Amino acid sequence: MADKKYDLIVVGAGILGTFQAYHALKKGLHVLHLEKDIYPVGSTVQNFGQVVPSGMADRWFDYGVRGLDLYSSIQSKCDISIRNNGSYYIASDADELKIIHELSDHYTTKGYAHAMYSKKQLLDKFPDLKAEYVQGAIVFEQELSAEPDKLITRLHSFMKQEFKNYELHYDHSVIDCESTGDTVKVRTNQGTDFISAKLIICNGYDFKTLYKKDFENSGLKISKLQMMRTVPLQNIKLPGNILTGLTIRRYESFEAYCPSFHTVEVPEHYRELREHGIHILFKQAIDGSIIVGDSHEYADVNNFADLGYAIKENINTLMINEANRILPIDASQITTSWAGFYSQHSDHIFELDKDSNIHIRTGIGGKGMTASAGYAEYCIDSLF
Ligand SMILES: Cc1cc2nc3c(=O)[nH]c(=O)nc-3n(C[C@H](O)[C@H](O)[C@H](O)COP(=O)(O)OP(=O)(O)OC[C@H]3O[C@@H](n4cnc5c(N)ncnc54)[C@H](O)[C@@H]3O)c2cc1C
Repeated sequence: MADKKYDLIVVGAGILGTFQAYHALKKGLHVLHLEKDIYPVGSTVQNFGQVVPSGMADRWFDYGVRGLDLYSSIQSKCDISIRNNGSYYIASDADELKIIHELSDHYTTKGYAHAMYSKKQLLDKFPDLKAEYVQGAIVFEQELSAEPDKLITRLHSFMKQEFKNYELHYDHSVIDCESTGDTVKVRTNQGTDFISAKLIICNGYDFKTLYKKDFENSGLKISKLQMMRTVPLQNIKLPGNILTGLTIRRYESFEAYCPSFHTVEVPEHYRELREHGIHILFKQAIDGSIIVGDSHEYADVNNFADLGYAIKENINTLMINEANRILPIDASQITTSWAGFYSQHSDHIFELDKDSNIHIRTGIGGKGMTASAGYAEYCIDSLF
């Protein structure tokens, strides 16, 4: 195996590494893809599965829009769990209404399709929403949802069928890499060595295995998010991505393009929620269960362990109470609760070229399910 030369080895089979492999394969390159776990269990499966470029700013919006095309084109060939049910940002007061109208002005200028829904239109479409919460919404019908527990392994199966130049090995942790002139040698914990022309490392939030020193001084942070899932709720129908008032007061696009974002008062009942980085999102799965989240706690990469493994009951209670202002959901319906993690950087991504062959790309933050497909295309076009 040691003398086999690939054009590219990708470390990490989360969404970011997978789309690096995908775009390299589209160029006809011979790609080896290595994942340390027996199947991916990182950020890519821990999330909501909302593909929402509308929440993003600058080039990340463009990557997200490109992602809509890429996901849809793959879904047209193979069911990777992508559904086109749109995104709904629900305003709950006059300030949030003002902010969504400002976002509408921005997207009208930019030519990104959207609609403004009145309270009545929204309640007609989603009669389960609580009327006293809903004041109006900005709606992006072109946006997509995925099933995060299914998407990535289905994408891998699709790529194995589609591209004869693709080799994927789960259960192969890369423990060392070394540039040897014009090639890179990679060693795995299976005792195997692989050689390629280039290496891209998309290690998610694992900063202990490779290039520990570089990550210690990288400025990367890790975010811990609490998430919950209800039992299948056949009585509630909520297709699409549902984002709410606290999201309007949080996401980058509102911050970047809506002047009122910076001037509106924070209502008293939001204060404690915001102290825990809580905003409420809903995503209904195909079986009718609803994913509800999320909260945010942060640690730098050197202190990841400080985030702990525990689910804090007080945070779940705050989220359920706020969720219950929006939909008839209560604690007795929650079957699962988990902590999700992702890495993030103040530059929106962490890019480090160790030399002309070894490239680290990680820290895409809370936007990876939306922006990875487009961003990875940019990376591969830049490197090959
Ligand atoms: C709770 C939560 C909700 C979110 N909701 C959304 C959402 O709705 N929409 C959205 O756009 N984004 C969302 N995100 C963000 C999104 O999930 C992440 O940005 C994205 O999954 C990051 O992908 P990744 O490939 O960089 O990381 P990961 O998915 O963590 O993948 C990294 C992979 O690298 C592997 N690896 C690491 N080191 C090695 C090694 N040495 N050798 C081999 N393999 C290695 C790991 O095992 C892992 O599988 C959410 C995230 C969380 C946690």
